Order: sequence, then C-alpha cells, then structure tokens
Amino acid sequence: PPPPPPPPPATYTNTESSAASDVYKRQTPLPTHGTTAMTAKRIDGKAKAEQLAETITEQTAALLAEHGIKPGLAVVIIGEDPASQVYVRNKKRRAEACGFHSVQHSLPEDIAQDQVLALIDELNEDDAIHGILVQLPLPGHLDEETITQSISPGKDVDGFHYINIGKLSAGHTADAFIPCTPAGCILMLEDELGSDFSGLNAVVIGRSNIVGKPMGALLLQRNATVTMTHSRTRDLPGVVRNADILVAAVGQPNLVRKDWIKPGAVIIDVGMNRIEKEIDGEIKTKLTGDVDYDGAAEVAGAITPVPGGVGPMTITMLMFNTLRSARLSAGLEG
Ligand code: NAD
Repeated sequence: PPPPPPPPPATYTNTESSAASDVYKRQTPLPTHGTTAMTAKRIDGKAKAEQLAETITEQTAALLAEHGIKPGLAVVIIGEDPASQVYVRNKKRRAEACGFHSVQHSLPEDIAQDQVLALIDELNEDDAIHGILVQLPLPGHLDEETITQSISPGKDVDGFHYINIGKLSAGHTADAFIPCTPAGCILMLEDELGSDFSGLNAVVIGRSNIVGKPMGALLLQRNATVTMTHSRTRDLPGVVRNADILVAAVGQPNLVRKDWIKPGAVIIDVGMNRIEKEIDGEIKTKLTGDVDYDGAAEVAGAITPVPGGVGPMTITMLMFNTLRSARLSAGLEG
C-alpha cells in the first residue's frame, strides 16, 4: 500500500487558523450531492447583504448610544462619469441608511492634483470621518497611485493603501482593511464551506489589485491551495477543472463554460459585463458575469448569480469597513 501522507511539519504556523492539520482530516473535499447531474445552489448575495446591513445598522446605533461615536464616510468624486455618479449615489444612500455621517465631495473634472491632495489631508485630519473613498477611475491628468496612497491607512476603507495590502499579504488582518469585493466574496464562501478551506483547491481568474490578488491572499489565509490565473495562463480550462473553489474576476462575459467546472465546486462570479441581448424583439442591455451561469449551475455545488451575487455584498462591505474603522478608532477592535 502507498505510504501514509507525512504529518504536518511541527513548525507550521498560520496566522489565521490553528487548524493546520485539518487538511489531513478532510476526506471528501466537497459534498458531491451523489453522482447525478446537479443543480447548484444559488448563493443569494442580495439577501446576505441586506442581513449584514441590518447588523451594521444595529451596531452603528449601539456605538452612538454607548460611546457617542457615529461612523463617518467621505466619498470624493471627480468629474462626471455617469457610472461613477450612480455608484457614489448608492454608497451615500447606503451609508445614510446605516445611520452613518455621510459626506460627498464632488470635484470638477479639471481639478488640480494638489487640490485633491489638500482635500484628502483635511479629511485625514477630520475626527468625524472614519472612512475616505476616492471613486475610480480618475480623470487622466490625476495620478491614481499618489491619490490613493495619500489616504491615511487607518481611514482607507477601500483597502488600497500599501500598508493595508501588506498587512493582508502578511496575514495580519486584525486592524487591516480588506478591499470590499474580495471581503464580500470570502464571507459568501465561508457560508458554504466554513472558515477553514484546508484541502481545497481554489482557483482565482484575474490578478487585479482590487479583486484577484487580495482574493488569493484571503483564500490562502484560510488554508486553501491557491492557483492564481490570468490572461497569460496556459490551458485555463484545465486549471479550472481542478478547482473546488472558483473565483472569476475577469470582465469577459461567459468566459467560464460548463465543461470547465469540477462537480460540486463553489463558484463566485465577480464579473460585471454589460451585453446587448434581444428581449421581446427589442435590443436591451443585460448584466452578465464571467461564468456561463446556466451551464455551470448544472455541474457546480453552489454559484453566485449576476446580478444579485457579489455586487450587493461589495457595497455593504464598504459600510462594514467604515463601521470597523470607527470601532478601531475608539479602541473597541484591533
Ligand atoms: P481588471 O481588468 O483589472 O483585471 C482583469 C484580470 O483578468 C486581469 O488580471 C487579466 O489578466 C485577467 N484576464 C483577462 N482576460 C483573461 C482571460 N481570457 N483569461 C484569464 N484571465 C484573463 O478587472 P477587475 O477590476 O479585477 O474586474 C474584473 C471584473 O470584475 C470586471 O467585470 C469588473 O466589472 C468586475 N468587478 C465587479 C465588482 C463587483 O462589485 N461586483 C467589483 C470589482 C470588479
């Protein structure tokens, strides 16, 4: 008979989980629901986001009642990009619904970089503000790196500051801000799989700083065996076929097909692609993900829809991070 697997090394340490040896306990990686074709569970991100928003609202009220602190979120928008205007309006609305102090700074398209930096300095110093967000993309004459890195790491609720990125990759997340989209994805995955992914293969498609890379770090922190893939990956379908957990963050409609999916896999579809489709004889714009939902749902164990999956969780995680920032500033967390 083949020799048993070696025990985990005695020096193995994991910043997040003490259950390092669980990898040897997990016999079956994922529930397979028998051997017949399955219809995946639809992961309802919208319902989860609403539930989470209720908890945030309650905790916000408690923070105000017990400590006299109201979480404050400042959103800076530069220029007139219509999609950005919609996102910012939604963020402001959601912040107000949670009971936050919410301010919006709308700056003209041609504003000088120094003026933007001066506003961020002011917000960094303002005790009523716990979270600062500069809506991207920026007009071409502004330097995205200089501007995002000028936000104080302690108010960087988008998690784009190098201090927060560094803490995440080192596994020191007690007082770090995690970018909102991957933070929402990991909560949905934990609902399906528990908080320890030992023994599971996770494949992330896409290596952006906003989604793919932090997603990989979060999966690794939960003991998944992580493969990062991107546009230069050879045989992407072959790599994805090995995934117990698949996170697709590409921006290509229906890239991931049914025959790429491992039976029982849990799929998080981050993609948000607008495609034109004929509906009732009219050409309409439809939002679709990076995964062929109908096909994949015949094979996967669970999958997020687009819309109604990752999107609603992302905005709620921004509120989560802002509340957390307020609690951290009061010494209640960290
Ligand atoms: P990005 O353009 O910065 O990165 C895309 C990544 O996909 C790159 O790393 C690239 O290498 C990879 N890629 C491109 N073509 C590929 C291919 N054929 N095979 C494998 N990899 C390929 O995008 P992003 O900001 O990470 O966003 C990705 C998608 O997620 C977009 O559709 C975006 O709209 C969506 N998104 C959704 C939310 C949300 O809240 N739902 C948030 C952020 C991004």
